Amino acid sequence: MKTLFNSGHTACAGCGQSMAARLVIDAAGPNTIVANNTGCLEVFSTKFPESSWGVPFIHSLFENCAAVASGVESALKYLGKADTVNVIAQAGAGRRRWDC
Ligand code: SF4
Repeated sequence: MKTLFNSGHTACAGCGQSMAARLVIDAAGPNTIVANNTGCLEVFSTKFPESSWGVPFIHSLFENCAAVASGVESALKYLGKADTVNVIAQAGAGRRRWDC
């Protein structure tokens, strides 16, 4: 099955966050922009020059992905595209490995 969250990332084996990210982005579809703050998800899925994301992706610092996503949504509203593009604020893990 084609997915918008590609394999090859460096998440731990069985990482729940990688599976959740894949389910969310595949449900949202290709007309989606993802804002993701620093955390496991950002680190394991966007190692330059590669990316697991099949959609536009914005990395922001630690706890501010919701603010970044709301800014993207405001820009889309201004452009008249808010009804055709999904914006997702995807938080990173922010946890230690043994808490996952
Ligand atoms: S530490 Fe946890 S959230 Fe991070 S990649 Fe490993 S299992 Fe996933």
